[in-house]
Amino acid sequence: MIKIVGIGPRREDMTTMTLQALKEADVIIGYGGYTRKIKDLLEGKNVISRGMGQEVNRAELAIEYSKKGRNVVLVSSGDPGVYGMANVLYQIMGKYSEVEVEVVPGVSAVNYSAALLGAPLHDFAVISLSDILTPLSEIKRKIRAAAEADFVIAFYNPRSKRRTEPFKEALKILSEVRKPETLVGLVKSQNNTPSVKIFLLNQLKEEDVDMNTTLIVGNTFTYAADGNMVTPRGYVLSHSTHPLAYEFYEKYLAGEGNKGPNTSCEYYPCHSHPQNCTFCYCPFYPCGDPSTGGKWIKEKKVWSCEECTWIHQDDTVQCIEAKLPKLLEKAEDLQNNKKELLKLRRECVYLTK
Ligand code: SF4
Repeated sequence: MIKIVGIGPRREDMTTMTLQALKEADVIIGYGGYTRKIKDLLEGKNVISRGMGQEVNRAELAIEYSKKGRNVVLVSSGDPGVYGMANVLYQIMGKYSEVEVEVVPGVSAVNYSAALLGAPLHDFAVISLSDILTPLSEIKRKIRAAAEADFVIAFYNPRSKRRTEPFKEALKILSEVRKPETLVGLVKSQNNTPSVKIFLLNQLKEEDVDMNTTLIVGNTFTYAADGNMVTPRGYVLSHSTHPLAYEFYEKYLAGEGNKGPNTSCEYYPCHSHPQNCTFCYCPFYPCGDPSTGGKWIKEKKVWSCEECTWIHQDDTVQCIEAKLPKLLEKAEDLQNNKKELLKLRRECVYLTK
């Protein structure tokens, strides 16, 4: 039997299944840097360490020992299925018959980094910038597709001393496709001590990343709050609709609402002239998503829209009005149909922000 395990970014992240597999093994095979990390767990075992670049050899050895009836553990860092040894082993296993394999999942750098940054992942893509085995054209194609689809993107192996071209290309594509204010998070792990930084895409420089860095690029909705990088999932927050909002939407639905700038309002312009006041009361309140400028007032525990100018843009109003009639037939739907309304908001934020 061969168990392929991942020891995580740090040995503290090893799962109990990995620890159990190591305990039960007779033969441990891995890259020297990884087996050294867990040396104290390997006492009394036959440990075979090989250098970087000898992945196929390690996999062949694992098969050889398992065919002799030994319990073999093949060690990866992170998760064995994410740029680890699982793919290598499965690829060559076709040559042999009767090899029993179990992949033991581990903590990959993307999980580890995301946890340190807060909660940046929603739908996401993981792309390695190593062009040792993958042509640069393929890497570029994947970055562009992921960036255009608004995936959160985690980049592995962004840049080494000799391999600088892929990251240059990644930066170029991201700056073409994504907004300069897109949030990026960097996690550098060296000697078990991670350093974490969150900043904007247009502040990201080549020298910021190296082989020990995992870079996470947020999507349209990713925001920073209290030192964390967060991509909201769109949950409905508990809230009762204000009576004035009901009144406003009763008029709106009867066709008596104001369209465009309401210059006769004593508060006009509550943001800046010209502003579209069609949705003076926002149908998405409280969206709980700071990506358009709203925020929590902690002391009062209320959601403030004071800095959200997005709802007053003409293109936003147009986008909302194209679908609102189907979702809001009566003022009560503000409450009853909140989930669908928040989905409309996401759609319009993506199209207009
Ligand atoms: S006005 Fe802006 S911040 Fe406020 S609920 Fe609407 S979309 Fe969210």
